[in-house]
Amino acid sequence: MTHIAFIGVGNMGGPMARNLLKASERVTAFDLSAEALEPLVGAGAAKASTVNDAVKDADVVITMLPAGQHVRSVYLDNGILGAGKKGALLIDSSTIDVDSARAVHAAAEKAGFDFLDAPVSGGTGGAEAGTLAFMCGGSEKAFGRAQPVLEKMGKRIVHAGGPGAGQAAKICNNMLLAISMIGTCEAFVLGEKLGLDPQKLFDIMSAASGQCWSLTTYCPVPGPVPASPANRAYSGGFATALMLKDLKLSQTAAQSAGAVTPLGAEAAQLYSLFANQGRANVDFSGIIEMLRGIR
Ligand code: NAD
Repeated sequence: MTHIAFIGVGNMGGPMARNLLKASERVTAFDLSAEALEPLVGAGAAKASTVNDAVKDADVVITMLPAGQHVRSVYLDNGILGAGKKGALLIDSSTIDVDSARAVHAAAEKAGFDFLDAPVSGGTGGAEAGTLAFMCGGSEKAFGRAQPVLEKMGKRIVHAGGPGAGQAAKICNNMLLAISMIGTCEAFVLGEKLGLDPQKLFDIMSAASGQCWSLTTYCPVPGPVPASPANRAYSGGFATALMLKDLKLSQTAAQSAGAVTPLGAEAAQLYSLFANQGRANVDFSGIIEMLRGIR
């Protein structure tokens, strides 16, 4: 039985930690919110009163926090890197900016810890079902140590490269997804204006060179793909607010690395506009309604 400290047990961290308990691991949890912490304690986790209290005897530490500033604050600033058990493996599964991930990597290495950035895709459904995809950045050694732990919470565990590579892979993928979704929506809106039947247009594009995941798996119009959020008024799925967060991270990274991403920038603007219309909680494919001019 591995002793795992879990810091940040909200919508994602809560079910992830529950899957570790189900796999008979020993979990000590900490969260600033008692509301987030209590259900996990009810499921068998030990409750810690501070971050440092949670990590002091743990063999593995997993963090699942909102943003880079929270991750920096729990690892640096007399946090986990000072209080963690010697030789512990540290894994950050939050989605954060690449620069913060690399800063924590460097500090962890200096303090003698193996550290992995391991953001996820799969959402709360994947967290509950234990089917998350983990994109990992760090040394071969850290990845090898983390794999058996991550396998208890996910189905696809990929080593993307060195420090920060997991975060980099995640924002590149989500930037492409946002761009391809907007393109797919525009094609359907144009087709509608030209009098085309959406099902016919789907049948043609899905077997032609416009084929992509946003079209064939996550179709933004109701009908052709019964499981897509379009069939339930764009509820559930991947919230616009989370897509916008990832797009903003991609633009910060592009600026920092000197990459030119004009379509990524445009996608960030369009999703900001959509979120500002009070649609932040709507699935990101719902942006088709804004493109049609419908609120
Ligand atoms: P959440 O807000 O539900 O959970 C975050 C938790 O961290 C909260 O319970 C909060 O109290 C806690 N927290 C904040 N600062 C803390 C600190 N200093 N010490 C201890 N606890 C602290 O968010 P979430 O939806 O679970 O997302 C977590 C991360 O996962 C984010 O980076 C998000 O982008 C990423 N993510 C979320 C989804 C999703 O569908 N929700 C999907 C993929 C990735």
